[in-house]
Amino acid sequence: MKRWLCLLLVCAALCGCTKQDTKFDRSIFCMDTVMDIQVWGVDATLIAENLITALQDLDSQWNANSDTSVIAALNRGDALTPEQQTLIDRVESLAQRTGGAFDPRLYAVTEAWGFPTDEFRIPTQQELDAALAQQLWDLGAAIKGYAADRCVELLQQTAATRAMLDLGGNIQTYGEKPDGSPWKIGIRSPRNSGTVGTVCVNGTMSIVTSGDYQRYFEQDGKRYCHIFDPETGCPADSGLASVTVVCESGLTADVLSTALFVMGLEEGSEFWRESTDFEAIFITAEGEIFATEGVELIDCQYEVILREK
Ligand code: AMP
Ligand code: MG
Repeated sequence: MKRWLCLLLVCAALCGCTKQDTKFDRSIFCMDTVMDIQVWGVDATLIAENLITALQDLDSQWNANSDTSVIAALNRGDALTPEQQTLIDRVESLAQRTGGAFDPRLYAVTEAWGFPTDEFRIPTQQELDAALAQQLWDLGAAIKGYAADRCVELLQQTAATRAMLDLGGNIQTYGEKPDGSPWKIGIRSPRNSGTVGTVCVNGTMSIVTSGDYQRYFEQDGKRYCHIFDPETGCPADSGLASVTVVCESGLTADVLSTALFVMGLEEGSEFWRESTDFEAIFITAEGEIFATEGVELIDCQYEVILREK
């Protein structure tokens, strides 16, 4: 009788002290896209719900279509909070680093082509010049990357063991898998719904893709995509169909994937050679794949871009 009682007490103590790791997995609609949030750890649900609240807050703060957002305040020239100003300063400095290929003031250009309302049209040169001159703010090419960084900061304050966030194509991994194997992320084919290969990363990393298949319209057999060349105000026509950037910073990955798409393969490869903080995968409109030498890409035929030419 006594032995049974002891066993029972030990079991009760164990159950009370060791809470099991759980997994949270939910899709939400946020920042105009579907996001998939997966978190593992004790209290995974609570942790993930905090991430979702943070993502929704960022969405309402930085929405270019809202009169009450920080974007509207920026366009009016109003003062920002220190945290908001820090983000703007970081975006400005990254934009400068890209030599202007990334331009966070193209909102009127996206409007001239009808992207915000899906009422697509080809604007006249006069309309384009006027839209470029307006310099209206739009962080659409950077905010999901910043959101990924915020999620990582929040995860670091918790007991989450690992997480995999798909913020509308911006992938953020967090932590290590229990078996020590790398995270594997499929690279989407720009011209069909399959994948062209799998990129492997360890630990906490951002993997961000900009592509001409994500938003576009076609007229007279020509594709007009949502990424613009800031010099012309026209959809970028650099010969690329997509660019994926692998980087520790989500914000940098997001800005650079957009900028490299505008630059094209040659200029983008040179930009990578001058940098040390990211790797990239380029897919041309013809379907050829090029990857910088630090990328671990499997299940894929591709040409390696070497640092030393
Ligand atoms: P992404 O999918 O991250 O490449 O971002 C594309 C979005 O960023 C577009 O829908 C526009 O709102 C905006 N955008 C387009 N071209 C540029 C550019 N050259 N620099 C910065 N933002 C841009
Ligand atoms: Mg981007």
